[in-house]
Amino acid sequence: MAKNIAILGSTGSIGENALKVIDALGPEYNILAITANSSVKLLAAQAKQYHPRYIAVTDADYYKELVDELDGLKVEILTGADSMVQIAQLSEVDTLITAVVGAAGLPAVLAGAKCGKRLAIANKEPLVIAGKLLTETVSANNAEILPVDSEHSAIFQAIQSGRADEVSRIILTASGGPFRGATKADIENVTLKQALDHPTWNMGPKITIDSATMMNKALEIIEARWLFDIEASKIEVLVHPQSIVHSLVEFVDGSMVAQLGMPDMKLPIQYALTYPNRVAGISEHLKLEQLGTLTFEKPNLEVFRALALGIEVAKTAGSAAAVFNGANEAAVEQFLAGNIKFVTIVELIEHCLNKHNAQTDVSLEQLIEADQWARREVIQCLNQEVY
Ligand code: NDP
Ligand code: MG
Repeated sequence: MAKNIAILGSTGSIGENALKVIDALGPEYNILAITANSSVKLLAAQAKQYHPRYIAVTDADYYKELVDELDGLKVEILTGADSMVQIAQLSEVDTLITAVVGAAGLPAVLAGAKCGKRLAIANKEPLVIAGKLLTETVSANNAEILPVDSEHSAIFQAIQSGRADEVSRIILTASGGPFRGATKADIENVTLKQALDHPTWNMGPKITIDSATMMNKALEIIEARWLFDIEASKIEVLVHPQSIVHSLVEFVDGSMVAQLGMPDMKLPIQYALTYPNRVAGISEHLKLEQLGTLTFEKPNLEVFRALALGIEVAKTAGSAAAVFNGANEAAVEQFLAGNIKFVTIVELIEHCLNKHNAQTDVSLEQLIEADQWARREVIQCLNQEVY
């Protein structure tokens, strides 16, 4: 029987790579469902190429346009905010690839966990906001999380070399983004175009900005904390500009085990689908002799304040993690719209964290409320020009 895959966010950078990977894997893997928020032209083109049984457009305003684009193609169409949840709950779904961006993916990934699915998680924000709840729901329902984020896929692969109590440290590697080596003064007036120009990875706009602020690495510390059930104090970040060593695990005897590969998301996507097996795929193989030097350096926490904040938030997580992520999503949206300066993103996040009364033992409703509060606070700060 072919494995049925649903891709939430098939029109994004991860989503498009996932389609290519599944297509190349052959008849053992079937694209059952795909979704987009508003990119209906691309979604319809994907439907015509891959023939999923279900497609969904979450923004209902685009439903009619999608129907028109489909030219009578036989496919079940879902729409509305709840459509990703409905797809996650389909009994036919074996693996749910979460490739939407931001907190919007939280209800669907929780629904998939409750239904005992294999969750191939690229969409890291729900893990940052509700990692404890999500990993507990996964365990309680015999679901499974396979990380797609390249660093976490690397850790997942390396950590299999020892027992959990033998792990002494996790080292997350970071490319350093476009402003690696910059001073505070250097980043003061960078433009949107400069911030979107990532040196090694080709990704969607939100995560590209997160990489430039190093907020992405901060989110990834929290992501790793929950995925591997490891204390935040045992997670370190090293800047590795070549993006070849995707992360490392150090064991108590001093051995470090790393996973290396080209900076190509198709590899971790494929591993999340085929695990525990490995199969030949479409990712280019590394040629070590052509690489020259691999370098590692400590990140500059004074210039990249987001990372310093993330290290603190990861220690307690709880509602602070929801505020941290919500404030960032709102601030990045403003930066992408050209409304604020690059450095203001992190100033707004810090303002929200300082103002928030953090709690550690929190319900899903409280996490969502903390997320919503942070988004409102960002807008209010901008309206009043205080942060
Ligand atoms: P993109 O912006 O390229 O794609 C996002 C996808 O989500 C699109 O399909 C988009 O649809 C859809 N989407 C956006 N907003 C909503 C919403 N509110 N409701 C429903 N669907 C929505 O993002 P990426 O592929 O770069 O990233 C996806 C996730 O994976 C992020 O969480 C990111 O952090 C993570 N990730 C990405 C990596 C990468 O290499 N890109 C690497 C590691 C992790 P539409 O096209 O209609 O807008
Ligand atoms: Mg990553």
